[in-house]
Amino acid sequence: MIRPLKRLMLLLPTATLPVIIWLLLLSSATGTGTATAKANAMTGEVSLYNEADNVVNADTNTLLPHLRTTPKGKLVQFINIFCGDCRRFAPTFKGVARELYKWKSLLSIYAVDCAQERNVAICRDYQILHTPTLRYFPPAFSGNGLGTELPTIKPKEIIDLLAGYLAKDFNAGQLHFEPLRPDSDANATIAEHVGPGHTEEYIALVFQPKGSNIGRDTIFEMLPYPAVAVRIVDDAQVFANFGLAAHEQKLAIMDLDGNILALKSTQESSQAYAASIAEYLAQMGRTPWPPLPTTRAPKTSSVRNREKLAILATVRRESPRVYRADLEQAIDKLLHIELPKAGLIEGDNMTALRNIIAVLRYNNPLNKDGQLLLTALDDSVLSINRLTGNEFVDLVKSKEKGLGNVFKAKRDIGCISTRPFLRGFTCSLWTLFHHLTVAAARQPNTLKAGSVLSAVHGFAKYFFGCSDCAQHFLAMAERKHIELVADHDAEILWLWEAHNEVNSRVAGDTTEDPEFPKIQFPSTTACPACRHENSQWNRTEVLRYLKNIYDTKNLSFYGLPTSRGYE
Ligand SMILES: Cc1cc2nc3c(=O)[nH]c(=O)nc-3n(C[C@H](O)[C@H](O)[C@H](O)COP(=O)(O)OP(=O)(O)OC[C@H]3O[C@@H](n4cnc5c(N)ncnc54)[C@H](O)[C@@H]3O)c2cc1C
Repeated sequence: MIRPLKRLMLLLPTATLPVIIWLLLLSSATGTGTATAKANAMTGEVSLYNEADNVVNADTNTLLPHLRTTPKGKLVQFINIFCGDCRRFAPTFKGVARELYKWKSLLSIYAVDCAQERNVAICRDYQILHTPTLRYFPPAFSGNGLGTELPTIKPKEIIDLLAGYLAKDFNAGQLHFEPLRPDSDANATIAEHVGPGHTEEYIALVFQPKGSNIGRDTIFEMLPYPAVAVRIVDDAQVFANFGLAAHEQKLAIMDLDGNILALKSTQESSQAYAASIAEYLAQMGRTPWPPLPTTRAPKTSSVRNREKLAILATVRRESPRVYRADLEQAIDKLLHIELPKAGLIEGDNMTALRNIIAVLRYNNPLNKDGQLLLTALDDSVLSINRLTGNEFVDLVKSKEKGLGNVFKAKRDIGCISTRPFLRGFTCSLWTLFHHLTVAAARQPNTLKAGSVLSAVHGFAKYFFGCSDCAQHFLAMAERKHIELVADHDAEILWLWEAHNEVNSRVAGDTTEDPEFPKIQFPSTTACPACRHENSQWNRTEVLRYLKNIYDTKNLSFYGLPTSRGYE
């Protein structure tokens, strides 16, 4: 576990002792104050999805009521807006959701963003360990259980799995996924389709050979047609009861007077069968309910508001610059969103938590109240061996009580994006990690070399909600022998190299903000001396450059509420 080389008290000149006593008094006042210094760590209310995609955004307050009271199957995608995999998956999921609009009488689709502070509790309750996670909940979900996880993000497989679940969960009224019984004939079948609640005027008969789902899938295709019920026949003898020969005909339609007409289909597929049935119904003047409106989602891609434009102009002008506001945002979200997501913190992940809090305690750029908060947290987690994510939230709250406002930054500055869902938290995390490696290298070296990397590694392993980021980072740590980093300068350079490796892997992909392209950092313009003439890195100059821009004294206060931010 990371511990400072010397305790903080020993590092301070005696003249500062009254200040410490004052700080300790303030710290001991915890619990008596009325003001809560909890930061607003909301990441904004933009979402990857909206109702035009046939996806309802749910949150801690609305998800459970939806799951319990909506008498349909429910597909929930748990996402993390900062996770590259979630953003890459979004167009696919939208495609699936739009396609499944025709199942809307049986299935509702939801998205829950686990990156939002208000959703931390629900994502923890549902044990969301990676994103995107897809779960199915049955129509009669009682509120107990975690739903059924769909082990795929391939559209065809998702649709097929859902069809299987729904076919089990709906087997009454107009919907019959069970094949007709051996003694079924026209009269008996019609009798099942008349009476209150039935809208069907026709019954389609689909011959479904053993091992095929063509009947089931035709039922799903025809859901938008209230005028028809589709019945599955899996036995040639039953088909014969309707006067049909399975070796010649596979599809037929019957009216409620028992008149039967064999239908031709261009192919033996559920879509082709549905097209034949739909064609017949159209001739009879029966139409489906309207498709999903193609209203465009509200356009969120352009940068409109003035404040954002002003920030962008400043960031562009000053680039590259490191902003305290981003570091604050990263720590704020770590304490209030990422770390509390853990279910149970005990053993190895407790060690990881202690390491993260320890490096933050000794090298954070926060105001005095922030220092107090992290000191109190560090002391507390040292004496706790086991706590839940919920208890961690309470612990942070209890330490914030009586303190002033620690987290004043309300938006990303250096990590501002020009498109929704890009940059933000992961950008501020990198910025924080680099800052921590540089701060740890400053005299006096309060932390052992390697402490920051060890904390970052533990964070990636046990807490990072961006699961693809975490996986890649852990693989890279193993390959690049993170454990062998022996001095502070090597620690700064290890992280710089690792970050550049990620930059080159994700450069140009959909997670890149075109205004902030992923480059091999730093650019030649920003640091001409950082490359030799043969374009190889000059590591001495890179180190000097990183130590300069990430140093506490060079951090910009821009974006904080006062000109000096903390006064
Ligand atoms: C530990 C970790 C692992 C990640 N792994 C993945 C992944 O595998 N796949 C994926 O899609 N996304 C991954 N991400 C997210 C991704 O790296 C970016 O954070 C995200 O795409 C936002 O990019 P950005 O343009 O804001 O800049 P970021 O890459 O987030 O960088 C933030 C800032 O750091 C500075 N910077 C850039 N490079 C360096 C460097 N080499 N050294 C020092 N400073 C630098 C720049 O000023 C930049 O603006 C990871 C994030 C983290 C924190």
